[in-house]
Amino acid sequence: MIPITSPTLHRMPYTFYLYIMFYLVKVPWIVQKIYGNCVWKIPTKEKIIYLTFDDGPHPEATPFVLEQLKNYNAKATFFCIGKNVKAHPGIYERIIEDGHAVGNHTYDHLNGWRTGNSEYLDNVYDAAKLIRTNLFRPPYGRIKRFQVKELMGAGYELKTIMWTVLSGDFDTEIKGHECYHTVIKNAEAGSIVVFHDSEKALPRLSHALPLVLKYFSEKGYEFRSIDERELKN
Ligand SMILES: [Zn+2]
Repeated sequence: MIPITSPTLHRMPYTFYLYIMFYLVKVPWIVQKIYGNCVWKIPTKEKIIYLTFDDGPHPEATPFVLEQLKNYNAKATFFCIGKNVKAHPGIYERIIEDGHAVGNHTYDHLNGWRTGNSEYLDNVYDAAKLIRTNLFRPPYGRIKRFQVKELMGAGYELKTIMWTVLSGDFDTEIKGHECYHTVIKNAEAGSIVVFHDSEKALPRLSHALPLVLKYFSEKGYEFRSIDERELKN
């Protein structure tokens, strides 16, 4: 249902892999319709890209990302895991001090399809005690429609933010340059792009992110965080 990279794709030729990634980027209108309460793209004709970073804060990956963003005067959105915020509060504060937006990514990185509704919602609530935000992204993109609806309601008031382009940086079987190509081939004005400030993604992230920032900056794009203004459009 949700366009998640399948492990079988790793064994396919790179061009086919890219085709699938492209295909997944194009196909979600039906998924978007089913998950109509979620944000998949920010409607804009301006040259703006919304970079997002999931799974931090991480003591190595997050400071790297913050440094890169600073080099291009770029703002982004960090979907933080509650337990990582608890473990690295100073890094979490730095994200906010640098003017980026933060989002809730549950406390324990739960899979919504495999977790009972009350357990899932409680876990989001635990993260919400540490992460002050109205943005939410479900780990793995896996969430039940009921859960999305509940999170929009009283006590949570969270808007679920999905994505337009997955960089694939979490995929240990591809190279950083492939992530870079995936992003530059698929991102356009208003796209929400997913990276991960995690240990697992760092080898690919550290290659792809500086190149993505350079490529789109040279083309006159601006990088912004997702905030109220964007979501009202
Ligand atoms: Zn995640």
